[in-house]
Amino acid sequence: MSRILVLLQNSENLRLLSAMLSRSHELVALNSPDTAFDLAIVDAPSLKAHAEFLAARKREEDPVLLPVLLVTTRQNIGLYVQPLSSIVDEVVLTPVEKLELSARLEMLLRARRLSLELRLRKDDLEAFIHAMTHDLRAPLRTVAGFADAMAEDQLSHLDAAGKHQLERIQAAVRDMWDLIESLVEFARIGRRAVKLRSVSLDEVVRMCLDQMRGQIESRKAEVRIVEALGRADADPALLKIAICNLVSNGIKYVEKDVTPHLEISARQSGKITCLLFHDNGIGLKPEDQQRIFTPFVRLHGVEDYPGVGLGLSATRKIVEIMGGQVGVNSTPGQGSTFWVQLQAGEKS
Ligand code: ADP
Repeated sequence: MSRILVLLQNSENLRLLSAMLSRSHELVALNSPDTAFDLAIVDAPSLKAHAEFLAARKREEDPVLLPVLLVTTRQNIGLYVQPLSSIVDEVVLTPVEKLELSARLEMLLRARRLSLELRLRKDDLEAFIHAMTHDLRAPLRTVAGFADAMAEDQLSHLDAAGKHQLERIQAAVRDMWDLIESLVEFARIGRRAVKLRSVSLDEVVRMCLDQMRGQIESRKAEVRIVEALGRADADPALLKIAICNLVSNGIKYVEKDVTPHLEISARQSGKITCLLFHDNGIGLKPEDQQRIFTPFVRLHGVEDYPGVGLGLSATRKIVEIMGGQVGVNSTPGQGSTFWVQLQAGEKS
């Protein structure tokens, strides 16, 4: 049962509304500054009188929505509601049909419930990340420690099969460590507020290439920025992760005896900037081009190409929370072009 705080100065409206609500909701009175409620219904004079209290309660609950519904006449909106409009989530103009009022109330209460549910999920995710970062890493560190100690002290006592088994243990520990790191990073994306601003794509791409210099050199890859890439509205730290993933894949999924060539370019059309990553790799069948953006979908074994299958799903998550889209055009054996569409950024 939802708790509704009704703050109406018009006593007739208060009586009618209370009679209507008390059938399916709990009505609460404003006794103290920490009175708990799920929705406040106010009229214009009460909004003015309780503005500070309502604003403080909404701030306390943020990012969970604590809805405030204003029931008012058209004249009162112009009179003194405007400066307080940031507190109000929904306005109902009187006179209003009972059916309409109750539909709007239910919608606000549903939004409140969904927002509370999201907070709970977020709390679960925090607990999961905590377990991954601490509880799972600790025993793995122990296994790694003992395996390394064995490799150092006991290696001469082991026969070829024993040495091979020890190497397998060490490799499995490394894989599991990478998997935990990738999962934690994946879960972290979007946890903090995403702040979009106009960023230079050339700068972000250059930072990625600097960070990946080791990988690029060890594969003797040629990575070329074809022309000035322009600007996009993005969160630079998140965009960098997405671009690094695409560059890393562009030089990784190439036949072993072929020098990887990756071309990075951009096209602007209207308010959209499209960043393109064109590789000379193994390419993708049409039926795989969508599903590779799903977590843990890998088309090859780790023996052929190392990885855990989270890079592209992280990229998609990042691009989508920045309001963009990501996809690929590809022909097997003839390379792929991964594209990222974002809002074009203003020139600084
Ligand atoms: P990972 O690289 O760790 O396997 P990703 O999510 O980045 O994970 O990629 C998922 C799968 O998509 C890869 O395993 C690979 O099969 C395929 N893939 C990704 N990028 C490319 C590419 N540039 N060319 C061909 N296949 C690719």
